[in-house]
Amino acid sequence: MATYGGWAGKVLRVDLGTGKITAENTIEKYKDFLGGGTGIGYKVMWDEVPAGTKAWDPENRIIFSCGPLAGTGAPANGRTAITSLWPLHKKELVGTGHMGGHFAAELKFAGWDAIIVQGKAARPVWISIEDEKVEIKDASHLWGNGIYRTTAEICAELGSSAQVAAIGQAGENLVRMSNIMTGNSHSAGGLGSVMGSKNLKAIGVKGSKSVKIAADKNEWKKLNDYILSLAGANNQWVVPKTPQPWAEYSDKGSRWTASKGVYWGAADPPVETGTCDPHDKHSIAYRTHKGIFDFGDIGEKYTVRMDGCHSCPIRCHIVLNVPSAERYGVSGYATNTCIGWWGRGILKTKRNTIEDLEAAVVGKHMTDDLGLWCNYGLIGRTLHYLYEKGVFKSVLSETEYNSIPWDKYLKNDPEFIIDFCRRVAFKKGEFGIAMGEGIDRLIERWKLDPEEISKDHYLVYFSNGFPKHHASENGGQVGMLINTQYNRDSQCHSHSNFLSSGLPLEINKKLGAEIFGSPDAIDANGNYTPMNPYKAKFAKWALIRKELHDSLPLCNWMFPWIASPLKERGYKGDTSIEAQLYSAVTGDKKTEAELDLIGERIFNLHRALTIRGMGTKEMRKEHDYFPEWAFHDENGKKPFEPGTNVMDRDDMEKALDLFYAELGWDKDTGAPTKETLEKLGLKEVAAELGAKGLLP
Ligand code: SF4
Repeated sequence: MATYGGWAGKVLRVDLGTGKITAENTIEKYKDFLGGGTGIGYKVMWDEVPAGTKAWDPENRIIFSCGPLAGTGAPANGRTAITSLWPLHKKELVGTGHMGGHFAAELKFAGWDAIIVQGKAARPVWISIEDEKVEIKDASHLWGNGIYRTTAEICAELGSSAQVAAIGQAGENLVRMSNIMTGNSHSAGGLGSVMGSKNLKAIGVKGSKSVKIAADKNEWKKLNDYILSLAGANNQWVVPKTPQPWAEYSDKGSRWTASKGVYWGAADPPVETGTCDPHDKHSIAYRTHKGIFDFGDIGEKYTVRMDGCHSCPIRCHIVLNVPSAERYGVSGYATNTCIGWWGRGILKTKRNTIEDLEAAVVGKHMTDDLGLWCNYGLIGRTLHYLYEKGVFKSVLSETEYNSIPWDKYLKNDPEFIIDFCRRVAFKKGEFGIAMGEGIDRLIERWKLDPEEISKDHYLVYFSNGFPKHHASENGGQVGMLINTQYNRDSQCHSHSNFLSSGLPLEINKKLGAEIFGSPDAIDANGNYTPMNPYKAKFAKWALIRKELHDSLPLCNWMFPWIASPLKERGYKGDTSIEAQLYSAVTGDKKTEAELDLIGERIFNLHRALTIRGMGTKEMRKEHDYFPEWAFHDENGKKPFEPGTNVMDRDDMEKALDLFYAELGWDKDTGAPTKETLEKLGLKEVAAELGAKGLLP
């Protein structure tokens, strides 16, 4: 048993090849890496998966990991990090998918901090976990079924409170653009085929334990009340969308969409969100009316309620009821959020129309049941791009091309979504195979021009199979630098959660200056200034916090909270929330700086894995490069002009110089130095990289 609160104290290891099931001590092996999330994931990958291993090799590991805060009741702790070699990336480097829902908490309730899966089963199996009782069970009756059915069957066996992480047919068929899904709407993108390659259909978990919290009850309640007092809406928007009696500011882009007269219109009877004064912590879950944010005003009418992950006060998932979608053979009820509605991106339906909602519902059911991933919408944009360029006509046989219902595509008919998803998930024909391979392999397979694609402002392809995600549009160089680091799994929102707070620039600058040393760290979105050392600090800090959030876990769609909605605090949030929660839960008292140091260790281990996996220390040249579209404005605007995100090449080179210096990485190669790794407690990592000639 752990002597600390928070952790269950044990990591489960399941070898599907030998059938051996063992346990190891979380604290002894992984505490230096926060004993959770990507911290455990990267450590296992470093220690156990040698360079040259491929994603679908039995030697590859897939690690499902929660962390000390999971299941504690801390706000927004319901995240599971799933780490493995990333099948989509041509070099198949390490990557992590993150799923919300209730799986992390249930894993903890069953007495486990993480599950390491290795080897390959001889036949389809699923892993059943009921507290200490862990079994590898036959899954032949589940194989070939979608995620919905699989989840239902396992819940029928384990009980309705069980949580299931499963793959659909896409993962079984080794489609690289496949995901792992829990709760039928929370997905970890990109890794479904790794489970498929191991013949692992699902993991079902049911727990009966509780999580120990080191702090006393009153202290714990006080801390949670304090944190809730600083919460904004989804993505930490701290101002409302429309003027409110309580609000000094508003911003029409805000996700704080609640207001007097705004309803969950499909609830019976409809529920009014009200104005949601930030001092009322009981109305936090009404603030983010995501039906309106994701679909426009029409979304209000079809929203039943908001839903979300374990212990999250924000509730950013929308429960929709769109009865007219049922004529396509799916339920009109559907739950998801943001890019989770990506199936509608297979068509080009207009926002704020019933056609768009129908496409979203049909697309959600198809993709979430088959277990398809969109790579932040890139699969849909690739489809439109290649269609408009006439590529499909030139690469596919006439018979195959004519078999695709393009008439339905052009009419925005959801039947096309159904056809498209089936082709990709079942690898039907050249079209189905290639679209499921991801853009890098598709470029090679069909001999497309990578330079032309790199310039395209619609695809916004960044590099290494990855589209941009909160890049130059969020803080200019800061967003671009962050995008160079996670260019196979982008989910860093630390910077955008602050830069998109909705507060006036002067307030954001003042708040930013307190952390990064100067107001010059902060630019208005869409109006950035030349690079400076404070922006490099900001980028580093954002990346470290991302790793902390993925290891504690806390939702990186909300944290960190530099800003708050409270005028009386000068809109200041509190960046020590993570350290306060960690200390209160575990009893291992850590300051903000001490916790950040662990985050930096985890982040540097990710970098070391990238270097080892690529077999080169030349990160600046071979990995951290920028796409061409970033240097061209479609309207001919120049860098640093107001109203453009176009970047300047020399300025971005300077940005890399300053960023590497901030991290203690070598300027020429972009690789961490021996001294930096040793200072971070990664002596063995430095020694191995040194022995391989991979240190600068
Ligand atoms: S903000 Fe959304 S994604 Fe994050 S924990 Fe809450 S419900 Fe889940």
